[in-house]
Amino acid sequence: MFSHARRRAAAVSRTESDGAPTRRDLWQLRRLLQFVRPYKWNLAVAMVGVLVASALGLVFPRIMGGLVDTIVNRAEVDPAALDRMALILVGVFLAQAAFNFVRVYFLSAMGEGIVADLRTRTYEHLMTLPVKFFDGRKTGEITSRLTSDVAVIQSTVSSSLAAALAQAITLIGGVILLFVISVTLAVTVLTFLPVAIVAAAFFGRRLRKVSTEFQDKVAEANAGAEESIAAVRVVKWFSAEAVETDRYRSAVRGSYRVALRRARLRALFGPMVTFVAFGTLAFVLWRGGRLVLAGQMTTGDLVSFLLYTLIVAGAIGTFTGLYGELQEALGASRRIFELLDERNDLAEPELPVQLTGDGRVAFEDVGFRYADRAVDVLAGVNLAACPGEVVALVGPSGAGKSTLVQLIPRFFDVSSGRVLVDGIDVREVPRRELRGRMAAVPQETQLFSGTIAENLRVGKPDATDTELRHAAKAANAHDFIMEFPDGYATIVGERGIKLSGGQRQRVAIARALLKDPSILILDEATSSLDSEAESLVQEALEILMHGRTTFVIAHRLATVRRADRILVLDRGRIVEEGAHDDLLAAGGLYADLHARQFRDEIGEVVHGA
Ligand code: ADP
Repeated sequence: MFSHARRRAAAVSRTESDGAPTRRDLWQLRRLLQFVRPYKWNLAVAMVGVLVASALGLVFPRIMGGLVDTIVNRAEVDPAALDRMALILVGVFLAQAAFNFVRVYFLSAMGEGIVADLRTRTYEHLMTLPVKFFDGRKTGEITSRLTSDVAVIQSTVSSSLAAALAQAITLIGGVILLFVISVTLAVTVLTFLPVAIVAAAFFGRRLRKVSTEFQDKVAEANAGAEESIAAVRVVKWFSAEAVETDRYRSAVRGSYRVALRRARLRALFGPMVTFVAFGTLAFVLWRGGRLVLAGQMTTGDLVSFLLYTLIVAGAIGTFTGLYGELQEALGASRRIFELLDERNDLAEPELPVQLTGDGRVAFEDVGFRYADRAVDVLAGVNLAACPGEVVALVGPSGAGKSTLVQLIPRFFDVSSGRVLVDGIDVREVPRRELRGRMAAVPQETQLFSGTIAENLRVGKPDATDTELRHAAKAANAHDFIMEFPDGYATIVGERGIKLSGGQRQRVAIARALLKDPSILILDEATSSLDSEAESLVQEALEILMHGRTTFVIAHRLATVRRADRILVLDRGRIVEEGAHDDLLAAGGLYADLHARQFRDEIGEVVHGA
């Protein structure tokens, strides 16, 4: 019943990051290092911690061996030597703890810093991207890059990389010490290890694949459930409960089957690794024991050797896990850099021109098509509007009205022709300046979470309280705002007070007034407000429109009647243009639309009179 595209998208995005690291990935890892630069001192201190702590870790088995030998050969050695060794051992552990603290703290501090920087940089960049970028993507997909992808990178930076380095030191040092203690034993142990490594890597890879598959299956099931829950009314209308449940059941069963495969692999993996590790130990004990019996090795050396074997095996085990983490981080950084590489294709002008006029707008033979569409949304559009003029845009839905007005603030660039403000091509004006001259009152006003005052100041952050009140009064908003106990400090938005549609519109009008634009774009609300709210909004709009160049996407009779000029759009072309009465008399599309769209309103007017 619902779209399946979302599920597929979820599946694709995850498998993408699952391949072996490519050269491009490594390049991106290097790019990630840029973010490390500001924290290089943190890194240096942490590295000292890593080095010393790992090295101390390697000292411990040696001392243990010495301790054992001291006990075994107690006839020859005085007890003071034992005391000394125990003390040294405690000292080593203490030092190791201290250096581990240094490592963990400084690396975490660096990781957190990098994450904060990365988030801010990504968000900052995101905000510069054009409307087009956001139109083509789901909000969740974008925010997940800011949250989960960045978090994955954080764990890599603050723990995995250090762990990798520590394990590398341990591994190399451990192997060297194995050889130092006994070459024959070391050779036998090291013939076993590669087998364990290959097996672990093989299993690890299989396990990761199955895990990814499982996550995709779960995501698929969730996406389906989410859709049905969101559209629960549709489900009820069509009595589709059973169908939806069946679909969910089969999706869950699919994930269950994969989960069983994963469970099998996991169940096999752990015991296998443990067996290889302990098998090796048994072998070392057996061979080493013989060497000790033959007097070719001391008991202490055997103990040291066993401990080193354990340490080396542990390091290898950790490495195979780290490989998976690294891959995940590479996938995450790939997705983040993809976002950072998105460019705004609305180029800023090389020779910026300042706007000096009073807000004339002209379209010269404008054609437009959306990047992913095959047909022109606008074609051959010519129009001119002066300050003080109200231009109403009417036409069937999909005719291109919203698209047309979005070309004025340059949310999109024309495909052909020019859009001029004050006689200057909008592409020659810095975007900030261009949009600084305009304001919009949309159909559905979205308020940010925060106070009413903050919402009003969006367009003019330095507005004084007096200016704020002035604008709110002119917009018929002051009275209702003062009715809240907190007045202008009332919290609105998602977690605050919900304003009615008419109230939100008046806030939007006050916001626009405060910005004092020379060009105004209004998108009338289609759903009608009650008549009192409507007249308050209408009054406010009159004040707002005064002396400005106004474009209004009109849905109401009152608006089109009042407009100086009506442009009738059909399939991207202006098919009729003129005043209300003339257009009615002409008997064209406008007369048609008028008959259909405004009939009810006329009925009301007639009844009312
Ligand atoms: P109107 O405001 O008159 O209803 P629009 O300007 O919203 O018309 O839409 C005109 C056409 O452009 C429609 O066919 C619509 O599907 C398409 N369209 C609108 N926005 C986008 C977009 N962001 N990407 C691709 N096509 C779009």
